[in-house]
Amino acid sequence: IRWTEGRGWHDAELVPYAPLSMDPANMTLHYAQTIFEGLKAYEQPDGTVATFRPEANAERFRSSARRMGMPELPADLFVAACDALISQDRAWVPSGGETSLYLRPFMFASEVGLGVRPANEYLFMVIASPAGAYFPRGVKPVSVWLSEEYVRACPGGTGAAKTGGNYAASLAAQAQAAEQGCDQVVWLDALERRWIEEMGGMNLYFVHGDRIVTPELSGSLLPGITRASLLRIAEDLGHPVSEGRISVEDWKNGNADGSLTEVFACGTAAVITPVGSVKSARASWTVADGEPGEVTMKLRKALLDIQTGAAPDTHGWMHRVG
Ligand code: PMP
Repeated sequence: IRWTEGRGWHDAELVPYAPLSMDPANMTLHYAQTIFEGLKAYEQPDGTVATFRPEANAERFRSSARRMGMPELPADLFVAACDALISQDRAWVPSGGETSLYLRPFMFASEVGLGVRPANEYLFMVIASPAGAYFPRGVKPVSVWLSEEYVRACPGGTGAAKTGGNYAASLAAQAQAAEQGCDQVVWLDALERRWIEEMGGMNLYFVHGDRIVTPELSGSLLPGITRASLLRIAEDLGHPVSEGRISVEDWKNGNADGSLTEVFACGTAAVITPVGSVKSARASWTVADGEPGEVTMKLRKALLDIQTGAAPDTHGWMHRVG
């Protein structure tokens, strides 16, 4: 779907996957006006296909567009574009278990020019790829590197938008995490380097026995749709659940005195991943016994059961395609 200043959204079309040709002065290549989303379509027990909360992705996409000075795609067009792509070939959606079709809607400036200003032309597209189960051989906890040198996003910046620049800014820290033998990077706040924000590509949850806390939306972390869904599911399952500020000391001390029983990360790709160990320039520790916790696994099953149709969709989150 194209957008042109003065004309709005036009020329929606479904075309075979192919390379794009691009002018060297395409504004996106220089000024990075680019946003994207990620969501999944799951086969349901009756053989139909349903996407998980596409309206929530459409809403976040609009909010990312506002922050990046881009036009807002109406939610119904966003959802219809995803539906049209999935419906093109039902055989794309893998059958069974946690397998899914991962959808990647995105938008970028398509205008040619060297002036620094919001572009007057954009292209919105959706591509897709079948995704297997994230943990085909059983859920495995990840090790995380607390990044104190680099920050992902700062107050007033673009951290709450799903824009390419945030990911570009994260790559050096992710490489540092790998050098330290860790799977993932965990981001701290920009000002004090003290408050836990999120993990690379996933939000975090801290479990204290029955009680569950997730870092509050500070404006510089991505408001994950999995995060928001788990706030509701945890409540459904009777857990006292809240959003709040969690510091590195809270994490370390909670671990040392045993009050922090589990930590997990959540996002569209892996749904829920336990965090097994933590390392920073100054300290390292194992989270509880380093194994996937009971609450983590219970929440993971509850969410996956809704997505795969094994449990009733009490919140009206599944969008039937076609
Ligand atoms: N934080 C970041 C930086 C992400 O890229 C993602 C993945 N979209 C998330 C959190 C989790 O968001 P969601 O649950 O919507 O996938």
